[in-house]
Amino acid sequence: MSDEIMQRVQSRAMDTMKNIKDSIQCGTKHIVQTGSAGRKNVYEKLRILSDAAKYDVACTSSGVDRKGDGTGMGNCSSAGICHSFSADGRCISLLKILYTNECIFDCKYCVNRSSNDVERTSFTPEEVCSLTMEFYRRNYIEGLFLSSGILKSPDYTMEQIYATLYRLRHVCNFQGYIHVKAIPGADPRLIQMTGYLADRMSVNMELPTAESLRLLAPHKSRKNILAPMRMVQEKTKENRQEITVYRNAPRFVPAGQSTQMIIGATPETDYQILNVAEALYKKFELKRVFYSAFVPVNEDKALPALKESGPPLLREHRLYQADWLLRFYHFEAEELLDEENPNFNIFLDPKCCWALKHLDQFPVEVNRADHRMLLRVPGIGYKSASRIVKARRMGNLRFEDLKKMGVVLKRALYFLTCQGKMMYPTRMDEDYITRNLLNTKERLPEGADGMTYRQMSLFDDMNFTMQAGNSPAKGPGLHVERMG
Ligand code: SF4
Repeated sequence: MSDEIMQRVQSRAMDTMKNIKDSIQCGTKHIVQTGSAGRKNVYEKLRILSDAAKYDVACTSSGVDRKGDGTGMGNCSSAGICHSFSADGRCISLLKILYTNECIFDCKYCVNRSSNDVERTSFTPEEVCSLTMEFYRRNYIEGLFLSSGILKSPDYTMEQIYATLYRLRHVCNFQGYIHVKAIPGADPRLIQMTGYLADRMSVNMELPTAESLRLLAPHKSRKNILAPMRMVQEKTKENRQEITVYRNAPRFVPAGQSTQMIIGATPETDYQILNVAEALYKKFELKRVFYSAFVPVNEDKALPALKESGPPLLREHRLYQADWLLRFYHFEAEELLDEENPNFNIFLDPKCCWALKHLDQFPVEVNRADHRMLLRVPGIGYKSASRIVKARRMGNLRFEDLKKMGVVLKRALYFLTCQGKMMYPTRMDEDYITRNLLNTKERLPEGADGMTYRQMSLFDDMNFTMQAGNSPAKGPGLHVERMG
């Protein structure tokens, strides 16, 4: 970054400090001010820019434990940040806003793209600080999630974000959680300076492949997105060493970095998406990859028409389940999907599907199986696997004990033995187990009613006809059942 930009940033921060003195003493001053003709007051801006931020899902606040030092406001202990989710699954515990929607870029999937005719506005650093402080004081929020469109240029936008965070931390003494977006294409030194003020940073991947990015977000490039990610990763590593030498060294992005990918706007398969996510976890040490089902907000021939089917929410859900398996259950993307089966089954979760394809590895004896294998049993979660390992040191476990430890037996019973015995006589047969697992009635998307887990054969069809004719027949070869 040139010295000129640095000077601009520093002088802006100084201006910010001067101007805020009065307004901090009277915190609501900014909130109630009304603008002159043609200028929006902060309420109007909040309405526009919080609405504009709703499609960004990369906003959970986990991963940092930093107490306030008693001189400012807020703290960042994990327990102090509650994760609450709105009806559509989005996290709402943070004040989630865009700094600006006056974006000069024209990403085809985005409601804020420059070619859209929407109401435009931008906050000032003072306004974001006042809103955050006032909302925090009123206990509405636990922290701030600040994203942004590109105002004038990536550098200018990043400067504004830096000035906002600088003021929030050093003038308002806000010690709560801040998640901020790094703007692709901005000067790395600006991103680095901002990283020392934020808890978490994210650079959105947006789309899984360079080709899709070229098609739908022509102003962005894979290089511009991956470069800041790499910088944050390297700086975080460096910072860890600094902290071991100097205990009070400033923390750089202590809650790590995350990213977001839009699902369903381009033709990539789940297999491709999951491989990208796995590479990001391994190569860039990301804390989270968020998947956002594509919501069609623009008419564009490059975008799929999803009006009737709606956003692919179940697909998003399956990807989150698989993501969980990658991060905590020691699965690899290659184990869950492959070129021949590139998409997740909508009827069964990825772990069940894997277990059904590997029945030769089951049932496992709960009193002897290692922790890694226990994690692969459908119905056994991360916590229950740890509880099992701990509890069995005291004696042999029974199925009743497993239930108390949180094991979901209606799933696990097909894959487990306790002291050499299964819970019920069960055949190790893929179709039989599949049918019984499907009877647990996982919520299915509209239109999936009456569909099958597998491609039906001619004989399956005959079985279906029998059942449809009120036959009570329920045999292992029967694949067609209505899902409730
Ligand atoms: S950069 Fe692209 S995705 Fe971000 S606000 Fe602008 S148009 Fe939307």
